[in-house]
Amino acid sequence: MRIEILTTIPEMIDAVTGESILGRAKSRGLIEINAVNLRDFAHDRHRTTDDAPFGGGPGMVMKPEPVFEAVESLVFRSAGTKPRVLLMTPQGRRFNQKFAEELARESHVIIICGRYEGVDERIRERLATDEVSIGDYVLTGGELAALVIADAVSRLIPGVLGDETSCETDSFSSGLLEYPQYTRPADYRGMEVPEVLLSGNHAEIAKWRREMALKRTFERRPDLLDTAPLTEEDKRIINELNNEK
Ligand code: SAM
Repeated sequence: MRIEILTTIPEMIDAVTGESILGRAKSRGLIEINAVNLRDFAHDRHRTTDDAPFGGGPGMVMKPEPVFEAVESLVFRSAGTKPRVLLMTPQGRRFNQKFAEELARESHVIIICGRYEGVDERIRERLATDEVSIGDYVLTGGELAALVIADAVSRLIPGVLGDETSCETDSFSSGLLEYPQYTRPADYRGMEVPEVLLSGNHAEIAKWRREMALKRTFERRPDLLDTAPLTEEDKRIINELNNEK
């Protein structure tokens, strides 16, 4: 999978994607994440990528030419495949785990980072296949949002996490929040790890984890229970939790 992030600050992208799990996945060839400098597609010697808004008002708007030409050059090089072109905007579809899973099935994703007052409207109308927001707040630029998306999508690519099963029980992947996790020591300042986790009984541990995941979800995100795939036993546990309330 290839993710290309169009930005005027490529250093921000390189600093994060070169490190840790993403950095290792890149060097092992499991995923390609590249920053593309929009200034390389500017038309003047000052490499200008923004201009004042028509109609007046504060701030600057990102010009269409560098963004259109950068996307077109990437599409041209992608030899027939049709990339998803995501425009980062607080006005877009809210990013979540389902959306990350959808994007992880793509072979080529292009992400456009806005700055200042945002991007020229024609980019949204003609270039973007999706408008994406990472939450109801306004950032100074799209780079952090693009990195959030690149990170969440990359860890779903087989092999990236090393242990293939470790993202399956993550919060949201199974439709529920994840159960609590513990590590050594078994007793820290009198705070003891639940007995069952030390028992070595894998069936009992799995049962406990499922119950805890249901309880956590019931307490913190009951809305998720409306769509999570639930067994008859899960429903019985939720009924009990309801009765205890
Ligand atoms: N004036 C715009 C508005 O009110 O919708 C906000 C522009 S914001 C200051 C600059 C850029 O940051 C946006 O073009 C977008 O790329 C990015 N951005 C800000 N908040 C974001 C969010 N919640 N999700 C995704 N991108 C965001």
